[in-house]
Amino acid sequence: MPTYRTSTGKRYTTQQIDDKIRVAKAEVLKNQFEEYGYNFCEQCGNNGSGTRLDCAHDLSVKRCKEEGRSEVAWDIRNINVLCRTCHQEKDGLNIQSTRP
Ligand SMILES: [Zn+2]
Repeated sequence: MPTYRTSTGKRYTTQQIDDKIRVAKAEVLKNQFEEYGYNFCEQCGNNGSGTRLDCAHDLSVKRCKEEGRSEVAWDIRNINVLCRTCHQEKDGLNIQSTRP
């Protein structure tokens, strides 16, 4: 099983990284809820019923792993609450920006 480095030289498996990300995402949603009393998209403010909220990474998990900074993948400062629409737009932009 491949492992991925953090910037301090520790190594984690995908499973361990995914577990940490799950915890970090829950914390991001909890922090937002505790601060504002509800969860909403940080980009467009949408919190209407039926709006699906995702936790989106600023620096993608793939890049965190590739760049040997796996710990950024579970850093809550790298995770934003976005609605499905904003998340898709953001990922679309990310895909374009990584083209040569
Ligand atoms: Zn949004």
